Order: sequence, then C-alpha cells, then structure tokens
Amino acid sequence: MKETLTKIKKAIKGAQTALLASHVDPDGDSIGSMLATGMILSQFGVEVDYYSKDGVPRIYRFLQESGKVKKKITANKRYDLLITLDSSDIKRVGGDLPETGLAKLVINIDHHPDNTKFADINFVEKSSSTAELVYYLAKSLKAKIALAVAECLYVAIITDTGNFRYENTSANTLAIAEDLLKAGVSPPEITTRIYDTKSVASIRVQAAALSSLEISPERNVAWATATKEMMEKNHAKAEDLVGLVDQIRSIDGIEVAILFREEDGKVKVNFRSKSKINVSEIARVFGGGGHMRAAGVIFENKAIEQAKDEVIKEVLKRIKASKYLV
Ligand code: AMP
Ligand code: MN
Ligand code: MN
Repeated sequence: MKETLTKIKKAIKGAQTALLASHVDPDGDSIGSMLATGMILSQFGVEVDYYSKDGVPRIYRFLQESGKVKKKITANKRYDLLITLDSSDIKRVGGDLPETGLAKLVINIDHHPDNTKFADINFVEKSSSTAELVYYLAKSLKAKIALAVAECLYVAIITDTGNFRYENTSANTLAIAEDLLKAGVSPPEITTRIYDTKSVASIRVQAAALSSLEISPERNVAWATATKEMMEKNHAKAEDLVGLVDQIRSIDGIEVAILFREEDGKVKVNFRSKSKINVSEIARVFGGGGHMRAAGVIFENKAIEQAKDEVIKEVLKRIKASKYLV
C-alpha cells in the first residue's frame, strides 16, 4: 500500500487538473469517496471536475460539492489525472468516456475483489469501502480532514457497511470513524439524512415490489420484482429502490435475496447474501460483479421473465451445491 500511495502522492503533486469519476447507479461510497477526493485534491491546488453518469441521488445532495457533479463529460477537455472511485472496471464508470486521451494518467481507487486493475496506478485493497482508502490517501498526503470531507467519508463508510453492521466492518473501519467524529461528524445527523428522509414514492414503490415477493421451496432464497409499471404508477426513480434488497435479506432463514428491476429498457439485478453464498460469483456468471455479500448484474437486452428464470435457476443450483460445503 505504501508504494502505491507514494506514486499517487507524486501524481497529485504534479497535477493541475483532475477528473474524478463515480460508477453508474452511484451509491454513498462512490459519491462520498469522489467528493472527498476532490476536496482533498483542491487543497493541493488541483482543479477538479466530478463525473457521475447517473448524477447524485437525492439523499447525498447535502454533501458539499455535490452540486458540482456533472452527468456529462465536457467534450474535448483533457486532464492530467482521471481518478475512478469504487469502480471495479473502467466500464462501471459508464457513459461517454472517450477510449483514449482523456487523461495523462489514470488512478483506480477501489475495494472490489474482482477489480480488473485497469489503470496506470491501481490502489486496490481489501477494505470496508473505497472511502477507507481515500482516508489513507488523505493521511499520507497530510491533508486536512475538514468537516465537509469527513462527512463524505462517513456517508461512504456507513452506506457500504450498513451503518457498521456488515462483516466488512473492521477495527480499522471503526478507528477511521472515530477520527471522522473527532473532525465533527454527527452520526445522528448523517444517519437521519441517509436512512430517515425517504420519499413517499420510495415507500409506495417498495410496498408494490414487496407484494411480488416469492420464496423458494426450501425457503432460503427470496426475490421481488419492481416492474416499469410499478415505477411509473408510483412516480418512483431508481434510487427509490435503495434498501429494498437488504430488507428482503432480513427475512429469517433467507440466505440469498434478489431484486429484479426494469429500468431504461434494461433489467437490473441486485443480489445480497447473508453468510454462506458468494453472490459476486453468481453475478459474474451473467457479466456482473461485486462483493461476496452484495453484487449486481445489468442485462442490456433480456426480457425480465427470462432474466428471472436464468438467475433464479443459477442461485438455486449454487445453494444446493453449497449444502455439501457447509
Ligand atoms: P448494489 O446492489 O447496487 O448496492 O451493488 C452491490 C455491489 O455490487 C456494489 O459493490 C456494486 O459495485 C456491485 N455491482 C452492482 N451492479 C454491478 C454490475 N452490473 N457490475 C458489476 N458490479 C456491480
Ligand atoms: Mn459502490
Ligand atoms: Mn464501495
């Protein structure tokens, strides 16, 4: 880690401009890590632009600098650095990234085990969140962790750890959180903004999707579907479905939870597992990826019923096979 940090420090100190990029369907980690990195780079005189193809979900818009995030890349603008945050592959950044020439140097900061190490400098380490790695970068740069930066990192950490509940929460995670609290972060203020400011559309569309809940015969796999019709009827956006798959996983005895959703003519699938099945392996079968307990797939051209059939068949097969391993 030390060697990589030294390389990144050198790159930042020699740079004047940087483009920071989140992944598609951004979550708290990709947005918080991107904004924190931007604010840290600004301290070193680097001029930064932020790119998130799918914008910034409403609940993260209280974070400083979130108003500067653009959904499009400025045509023909070139940068000294492109830094991708929380993206296991350059394709996860999505959108209109030109094939070549966007930046002189690409830095990949990420914690996904399936990261393809696509950049010139790959700062890819096992950690609860990409934000933990951004924190180590800030420390190694001796950057000031101002309250605005601390809030971004805190949001990123709690959203990837389920507010310190998941098994990716480590002693390091809590030590970093301690430092962020010392910088002035207020846990109740942040958790209220993240977990207790749901839209009515979100509650209604989640209720509709939950009413479609199906359970496997052995009662260890559960799935629900959010159709285009449910989304339209409830005036819901994709971000209104956040948390739903975690709720399905919370059912007693459920090992794998799946949410199928129709969006922009695509079928998106979110996976969660409780303690045994590695859902990133299942996601990879269909061209997706993620972590052991949280993963996803995007089907570009498949009817939802077909996608459901294929995915559920694969999950049931894995569950059956795993019984011999446990
Ligand atoms: P989500 O269900 O959107 O919270 O995503 C859970 C995890 O899976 C995150 O770490 C994502 O980065 C990853 N993930 C989600 N969708 C995809 C995809 N289509 N391809 C690769 N990784 C994904
Ligand atoms: Mn993410
Ligand atoms: Mn993450």
